[in-house]
Amino acid sequence: MTGTPTYEVRRVGQSYAVFNGNGLRVSGFYHSEDRATTRLEKLVQNAAGDVRPCITCRVKFKSQGAHNRMCDPCRKRSMDLPPEALFPSFAQGGAR
Ligand SMILES: [Zn+2]
Repeated sequence: MTGTPTYEVRRVGQSYAVFNGNGLRVSGFYHSEDRATTRLEKLVQNAAGDVRPCITCRVKFKSQGAHNRMCDPCRKRSMDLPPEALFPSFAQGGAR
């Protein structure tokens, strides 16, 4: 894996659109190149992963996707601890 896919803004007739590295159009058409470039930057950001607050310590970190809501330190810690240490309600609701 080589990280961020490439995108480029191309002129299409009177409009501009964002194309990915495979030459596929990945945006709508824009009348100004600036707007298409803004869209491109958004796509690059999304491809690189979102920055989200960690569900445990609230530190902002780069998430790999919707499934990834814990920062690395917390994830490591959560593997060392039983689930009820992180989510106290676990201990009450479930098994005897
Ligand atoms: Zn955390």
